[in-house]
Amino acid sequence: MRITFLGTGTSHGVPMIGCDCDTCRSSDPRDTRLRPSIFVESADARVLIDAGPDLRAQALRHDIRRVDAILFTHGHADHILGLDDVRRFNAIMQRGMPCYGDAQTLTDIRRTFHYVFDPATPKGGGLPALDLIEIDGPIGLGDLDVRPVPLWHGSRQILGFRMGAFAYLTDCNRLDDAAWALLGGLEVLVLDALRIRPHPTHFSLDEAVDVAARLGASRTFFTHMCHDLPHESTNARLPPGMALAYDGLVLELT
Ligand SMILES: [Zn+2]
Ligand SMILES: [Zn+2]
Ligand SMILES: [Zn+2]
Repeated sequence: MRITFLGTGTSHGVPMIGCDCDTCRSSDPRDTRLRPSIFVESADARVLIDAGPDLRAQALRHDIRRVDAILFTHGHADHILGLDDVRRFNAIMQRGMPCYGDAQTLTDIRRTFHYVFDPATPKGGGLPALDLIEIDGPIGLGDLDVRPVPLWHGSRQILGFRMGAFAYLTDCNRLDDAAWALLGGLEVLVLDALRIRPHPTHFSLDEAVDVAARLGASRTFFTHMCHDLPHESTNARLPPGMALAYDGLVLELT
């Protein structure tokens, strides 16, 4: 299984519009962060987790031509606004795109992209073909065994995903007992770490380090970072086995 980080930034991206801070002006390419998404490739499946507003740029950068399905963590703008770009994958693959999410996320997608699902909208090249499928338990995508993990994102419950010994948990500030029970024995954990200060819907870096230490994955990578976390200096003070992810990072898992 191969994981490519397409974006590791928070909803504003880094650099942020109109900001002159050191991170936003950094020349280190690892300080440039598109909106959060990963691409998972196995022997016979290619899956996106989330489709944010940078999907077009991310697909071009990594020459992604085939996507078999999209797994959605939740319906916030930074995770779904790339759905219009699915039109290219529809054309290449000559079929609708299976889009998996919980009931709330599918409602959010139907509301945000209401014209796509309105029978009165004239059919044509302007509409992505989206097959919305509700997740209510483990699913198989080709040879990938995908297990949804319930996460708390403020007062809202969203989904993380576990595939084998890999878990992707973005946009969360609390794991309840049901989540802990699903996250033993991880080889690689990806976890939300927004910034230094606490936040009502995201783990701060200290909180994320604490959770990561308790989960005990062999390697942990943090994502969904804002400009408060410059790559190199932040990495230098993280515990062994933990690092900030960066756009373009590729992980190979056996
Ligand atoms: Zn900044
Ligand atoms: Zn969110
Ligand atoms: Zn987000």
